[in-house]
Amino acid sequence: MVRREQRVRGDGRAYPGRGTAERARLVERLADRAKFIRLETVRLAEIPGAGHYTGTFSAAELFASLYYAELSYRPDQPGWPDRDRLVLSKGHAAIGLYPVLADVGFFDPALLDDYTRLGSAFGDHPDMRKISGIDFSSGSLGHGLSVSVGMALASRVQGRDYRTFCIAGDGELAEGQVWEAAMAAGHYRLGSLVCIVDRNRLSIDGPTEDLMGIEPLADKFRSFRWSVRRIDGHDLDAILDAYDRLEPPGRGRPQVIIADTVKGRGVRRMEGDVGWHVGRLAGADYQEVIAEIEAGLQPADTGGSGA
Ligand SMILES: [Mg+2]
Repeated sequence: MVRREQRVRGDGRAYPGRGTAERARLVERLADRAKFIRLETVRLAEIPGAGHYTGTFSAAELFASLYYAELSYRPDQPGWPDRDRLVLSKGHAAIGLYPVLADVGFFDPALLDDYTRLGSAFGDHPDMRKISGIDFSSGSLGHGLSVSVGMALASRVQGRDYRTFCIAGDGELAEGQVWEAAMAAGHYRLGSLVCIVDRNRLSIDGPTEDLMGIEPLADKFRSFRWSVRRIDGHDLDAILDAYDRLEPPGRGRPQVIIADTVKGRGVRRMEGDVGWHVGRLAGADYQEVIAEIEAGLQPADTGGSGA
């Protein structure tokens, strides 16, 4: 079991600096866990015969860095009141989160062998009433940031210093409720709130900029009184640096990390292909994809606007 309680080092940073052997080991470990997330996603999707591959692959490095480096939690005490909260607003990526929760000790990994079968707690979207380690039942898009604002306000009322992380899809940013939540977070100066946008540029219906443009995204958040950082969401060093630069929880600006990602990252046939939002692998394709993931990430253009 992994029992993580984040501690800041003497230099004010949580992570060893770039270029050190310690840092290289950490990044190697996280890359291995991101690979594990992709492999497990492919394995589990075979049970129902289809799955949300691409929106999970775009978030693999985010999941790995949060659960194996950044978040504080106690798997043997899932309701620990001082734990960091994680709201997976893009709940359709739960297929990649379940294996992580099992791996760190929230429940028996064997339970995942019945993923989506009748009677299983593990559906396509996560259920906080049935699954240890899930803080919010998500999947109906556009709600996660509002819930996260509530959790961040609760920490203030209760005098606790946990952070609330919200992983939002970029497609769901077209929903008005997200921006009401963003406005409230800025107004109340929720410095303990961290939104990570998985900016993979696609939703189920096509490119976000064709459907309902959300750029300039950094400027939008800034105008709602947020601190903004924009990174390559597959670059583990960049992700760790972004976590290290978060302001302490308190009455500061809420913080957003816009993670420029590639939908389907790690499997060439799926990268940037809207048709794989929900897809099905079969036969020889399955083995090819496993081999490709096993080989590790190859260089890719994340397509970030650099805004
Ligand atoms: Mg998207």
